Amino acid sequence: MSPDAAGRWEVVIGLEVHCELRTETKLFCGCRNAFGEEPNTNVCPVCLGLPGSLPVLNRQSVEYAMRIGEALHCDIRPSIFHRKNYFYPDMPKDYQVSQYDEPINSDGWLELPNGKRIGVTRAHMEEDTGKSTHMGGGGRIGDATHSLVDYNRAGVPLVEIVSEPEIGSAEEARAYVSELRAILVATGASDGKMEEGSLRVDANVSVRPRGSTALGTRCEIKNMNSLRSLGRAVEYETGRQIDLLESGDRVVQETRHWNEDEGRTSSMRSKEEADDYRYFPEPDLVPLAPDDQWRKAVRDSLAPMPSDRRRALASAAHTEPAAVALLVEQDLDGLVLAAIGAGADPRIALNRAANEVAADPDGAARLSAESFARVVTLEATGKLTATQSKQVLAAMLAGESDDPEAIAEDRGFEAMDTSALQAVVDQVIEANPGPWQRFLDGDPKVSGLFIGQVMKKTQGQADGKAVTRILQERRDG
Ligand code: ADP
Ligand code: MG
Ligand code: ZN
Repeated sequence: MSPDAAGRWEVVIGLEVHCELRTETKLFCGCRNAFGEEPNTNVCPVCLGLPGSLPVLNRQSVEYAMRIGEALHCDIRPSIFHRKNYFYPDMPKDYQVSQYDEPINSDGWLELPNGKRIGVTRAHMEEDTGKSTHMGGGGRIGDATHSLVDYNRAGVPLVEIVSEPEIGSAEEARAYVSELRAILVATGASDGKMEEGSLRVDANVSVRPRGSTALGTRCEIKNMNSLRSLGRAVEYETGRQIDLLESGDRVVQETRHWNEDEGRTSSMRSKEEADDYRYFPEPDLVPLAPDDQWRKAVRDSLAPMPSDRRRALASAAHTEPAAVALLVEQDLDGLVLAAIGAGADPRIALNRAANEVAADPDGAARLSAESFARVVTLEATGKLTATQSKQVLAAMLAGESDDPEAIAEDRGFEAMDTSALQAVVDQVIEANPGPWQRFLDGDPKVSGLFIGQVMKKTQGQADGKAVTRILQERRDG
């Protein structure tokens, strides 16, 4: 694809994310909802679809669905279940119980770290299918000698979150899923583990002439198991569709499969329409109508969402929400906020948290906000140089002690007094007449050499900023 061609088109993406709920038991029976167990051990007549068995709705799954709806700013409404009819061996009833035109959550949105809002069309409840494994022939059904089916996953509760077609790039698609995952984890509804299939993403991709408002014909891509493959699949599919349109062909609406090894999508089947599924209301379940009291209890029990946490930290640290997104993602915002609350310098607190603390998650779990605030303050007031403060923090993270003053004293980290430092700087100037002349002539690069020499002579105890100041004083007479 030429850069010109890429400039003439824009991509439009809508995502469907299936989220497995972290309930103890399945959606309509008492079987355990657990990942990675011996196949076909968590099954019963209900989730195997045996004749005469009847579903009983899991209350906790409704609560989780409502939490997700609240967190995504949805309208939470009375809803009903439908049967979505189709045949596949991993779906023992030959229909999936899902929600169709009266979903529990609709018309919401989520906010990306950069402030852009993406509409959420709906977030409805449904049951998961079992899992088939095709044996022999590299896992492909066409070349397989036989297939195995595990029904442990059949009937696990899901919420499917459907976005509006408002995502404008592969990068933004990844940001959306990453934000959604953080929200789902914050609600307590999901463990967010993409690698265990707790979160599964289908991407609807179309392209249109840049600036146009009509939607192009879309393809739906399945089988992306990570944020990385989501990004790659969308990039590939965008290029494929632009190439087709540029050469005068058209895009055919279909479902496509992402092949991670080959790095491309390939046609799987033509797109089903709603008609093909013969939806009808599930006669074995009553309508679901959570009362106001339950909805209020759910609303009150929600922890702050990532966007709220970004805003809170950004305002305390006088910066932008996007600048603190990573700290919130790493769950370090509480530490920094507490340190700022205890009087620590916001800029230094942010830097030490984002670098030293973030690099050591185990140590971070041990670190108290109070001692973190103290080490930051030692640095901010010049009692420790940046280098020394990093070393003290490293010792605290390693579990040596949570008393930064004691560690500093043990290491002999005393702030050098100014006259001692001046004396060392003067010695170094005297020993390096050539570089000193260059410094006097205005070459700023040689100051690094002087700082290095002073550091060496003082075993790192000197404050680099103080050395620079003394060099300037000596130069300016
Ligand atoms: P289905 O259930 O058949 O997949 P939906 O109408 O529920 O169809 O749409 C599913 C997803 O496809 C939604 O996320 C929606 O935003 C997205 N979508 C619909 N049309 C387009 C399009 N032309 N380009 C990109 N995404 C689209
Ligand atoms: Mg779809
Ligand atoms: Zn069961």
